Parts: sequence; structure tokens; C-alpha cells
Amino acid sequence: MQHYDTIIVGGGAGGLELAAKLGRKYGRGAGKDKILLIDRAIVHIWKPTLHEVAVGTLNPQQEGILYTTVARRNHFSFMLGELVAFNPQERTLTVGELRDEDGSILVPKSTISFNKCVLAIGSGSNSFGTKGFEHAFTLENAQDAQRFQKYLFGRFLQTSHSDKRCLNVAIIGGGATGVELAAEMTEAYHEMHQIIGSANRFRIEINLIEATSRILPAMPEEVSAQSMPILERKQVSVHTNTRVLEITEQSVITDKGEIAADIVIWTAGIKAADRNTQFHLQTNAINQFIINEKLETSAKFVYALGDCASLTLADGSRIPATAQAAHQQASYLAKLLWAAANERAFDETFVYQDSGALVSLGFDKGVGRVAANPKKQENTIFLKGLLAKWAHMSLHLLHHFEVLGLRKTTVLALARLAQKRVSGRLKLH
Ligand SMILES: Cc1cc2nc3c(=O)[nH]c(=O)nc-3n(C[C@H](O)[C@H](O)[C@H](O)COP(=O)(O)OP(=O)(O)OC[C@H]3O[C@@H](n4cnc5c(N)ncnc54)[C@H](O)[C@@H]3O)c2cc1C
Repeated sequence: MQHYDTIIVGGGAGGLELAAKLGRKYGRGAGKDKILLIDRAIVHIWKPTLHEVAVGTLNPQQEGILYTTVARRNHFSFMLGELVAFNPQERTLTVGELRDEDGSILVPKSTISFNKCVLAIGSGSNSFGTKGFEHAFTLENAQDAQRFQKYLFGRFLQTSHSDKRCLNVAIIGGGATGVELAAEMTEAYHEMHQIIGSANRFRIEINLIEATSRILPAMPEEVSAQSMPILERKQVSVHTNTRVLEITEQSVITDKGEIAADIVIWTAGIKAADRNTQFHLQTNAINQFIINEKLETSAKFVYALGDCASLTLADGSRIPATAQAAHQQASYLAKLLWAAANERAFDETFVYQDSGALVSLGFDKGVGRVAANPKKQENTIFLKGLLAKWAHMSLHLLHHFEVLGLRKTTVLALARLAQKRVSGRLKLH
């Protein structure tokens, strides 16, 4: 049986940063034998950009980072595969077999032992048992986003040649994902109009449906209020206090009436994988692993971070499921695990520092409130327009910087800019 000192399962916003940080600490000599990162995808895409992939304004082939490249650069090992079983008592985990497209087995199922393990496997969508949920698209991973992008452009083309000449879109969930997706989609639509002839012009009606009294309910009220006029200018119809009862093939039925929808996207709420409940660890109602202030699960030497974990603070509040929280937890665990590797005591507990909330509203707009100094929460500044958009983009660059370093991040950012200049903003294939 293979053995690693530390296994990190899930190379997303938190897990990949943790693997890179720890690998660099161990260095060229030891890192590869001590640390293993497992992910079911071969390419990493930072999840907060999935709405851009979904409408074709971000090219995943260009933006995606190969795990093998990051592993080599940061001195850790990488294994492609899906976690299917977990035994915290024996400290082993099982990675499912890998199959080719024709169904033949490429890599058999394997069990690996560890001293310490970090679960960073993210989350999926919470349907809340809504009838007809299967008619909606979700944005849980890059494949979902690419599948949606293909479908969206198909519908753009179809509508431009139809008698109806109107595409009805319903986005369910007015959190950051839904709001950012609505704004980005209007930009993709306008780009599309630059490409197609005036004879084929069509209308798009985007309905953003939110059950609570305002969009962006998890963000400060001011961010929500300032986002509304921007969405209205983009002609997004916002329906707050509106509960979705059922999704059909052509519409969304709400408690306020029926909304026509050729395309429905579900962005309301998260839920971790059902399989998490079979891993012999304590989980909550949405299958997240319950962790303590040292990010340890109910089993010793097994930690969890990010969207798949639930940490309730002394005041009863919960750490939000955001990339910001996953990033902070990865930094904390890198310190904790490095201290353990050196047999040093580590008494610090995880302290979440809210650095603010930013929302991207298309190519050149954003809104947000950020902490000038996250240690002094009262000292915050409000950002709007291009400045807020840049601040939002800088979070993505920061993530790349954590895993690729400054030089490669700069090259990647410049390459992305150059590509857009040459090929246009929309990926149409
Ligand atoms: C469209 C969109 C916009 C967002 N915008 C923002 C934003 O502006 N700001 C913000 O802070 N947050 C934002 N978020 C939320 C943010 O993306 C998540 O909170 C964050 O990615 C969680 O990080 P994570 O490391 O826990 O999981 P993820 O980043 O989801 O990574 C999980 C990883 O685990 C892998 N995995 C899953 N299951 C298995 C398995 N069984 N075996 C092996 N590998 C597995 C996956 O392939 C993936 O690589 C957004 C989310 C979306 C969808």
C-alpha cells in the first residue's frame, strides 16, 4: 500500500494553495515523497470564475492550470482520481478506478495510507428538493460551465434565426454567483450582437430570482443596494421575495406566478456530496464535515477546509463558504501541519478575518466593501466601478500567485490580455 505523510484531497481554491504552500516548505528533496494531492480533475480552474467560463468570456483551455505543473513546481505529488471511501480509524482512503471513454479500466482502484489528511473537496448545489430541478443547469465545476456555454451559444444562434427572437433566461439564486452570472451574460449577449448581422438581432430577458428580500443577502446591504441599479441598467429583471416552487421545461413557477424560461440556471445554495456521510466523520445537514477551531474533524489527524467543512464560532456564527475563507484556512493549516512535521507545539486556533465582499458586474464594473486592514474590521472602504472590478480580479491573481509564483502569474495575466485583443472577448466554440 502506498503511504504519504500528508494527503490533501481536492485541489480547489483551498486545497491547491495548501499543497503548494506545504510542498514549498518541504522543498525539492522531501516534498514529493511527503505530500500527495488528489483531485478528480486534471486541470484546475478557480471556481469563482466559473460564471465567466459559462458565458464564454473566459477560456478554460487558456486559464486552466495543469495540476502536474503546479505539483512539479511546488514539490508535491499529484494523483488523478476520485475519493470514494475513507477510513479515519485505519487512516486510509480509497481512490476509485479511472476509466477510459470506452469504459475500459486505465487505473484500478487503490487504497493509500496517511499520517494526516486534509479534506478539501468543495461542495455542489442544494436543490432544496425543488420539483423539476433536473431541468436546471448548475455551475459546480468546469465541465458544468463548459456544457452550459455550449448550450447557451446554441440557444443564441437558434433564437437569432427564430420567429420569436427572444431568449428567456431564469437564474435562480441572487447570491454572488447568480448576480455575477446575470451581469456577465448580458455582456456576452452584447458581444454576440457585435458578431451577428443586424438582420438576426434578438432580445434577451434575464430574470434573477431570489427568495429573500434583497440580492446578495450574505453581503453588506450597501453592496446589494449599489448592485441593483447596475443590474437594472443591464436590463436584468430582479425578483426578490420570490420563492421557486417548480421548474418545468419552459418556465419557472414561483409563489408570485410563472416566469417563461428557455434556459434555467440554479445558483441557490450549496450542499456537499452525499458520499461525505459515509466517511465515518461527523457531518451536518448539508453533508459538510464538522470541524473545530483547529480545523480538525471528528477524527484525529483528519482536517477539512473550505466549502466541504462547517466551523461554528463561539458567537454562533459560521465561517462562510467562500474562496476567501478557503484561502485563509489553507494558510492556517499550512502552518499547523508544518509545525507537526517538525514536532513543534502549535496552539494557535483559526481566526477568520473578513476582508470584505466584492462582486463582479461584467467586464468593467464591480461593487464591494473591503477592509483596509482585515485586523481592524471597522476600517473598511467602499469600492465601485472599474476599481472594484480590478480588486475582484486581483483575488484571482492572488490565487495564481500562491500556486504559480509572481513571474508565471504575470505571464499568464499578460497572455490572457493579449489573447482577448487578438481573438475577441467571446469564446464561441
Ligand atoms: C460562479 C461562482 C462565483 C463565485 N464567486 C466567489 C467570489 O467572488 N468570492 C468568493 O470568495 N467565493 C466565490 N465563490 C465561492 C468559491 O468558489 C468557493 O467557496 C471556493 O471555491 C471553495 O473552495 P474549496 O477549496 O472548498 O472547494 P473548490 O474550490 O470547489 O475545490 C474542490 C476541489 O475538490 C475536487 N473534488 C471534489 N470532490 C472530489 C472527490 N471526491 N475526489 C477528488 N477530488 C474531488 C474538485 O475537483 C475541486 O478541484 C464562487 C463560486 C461560484 C460557483
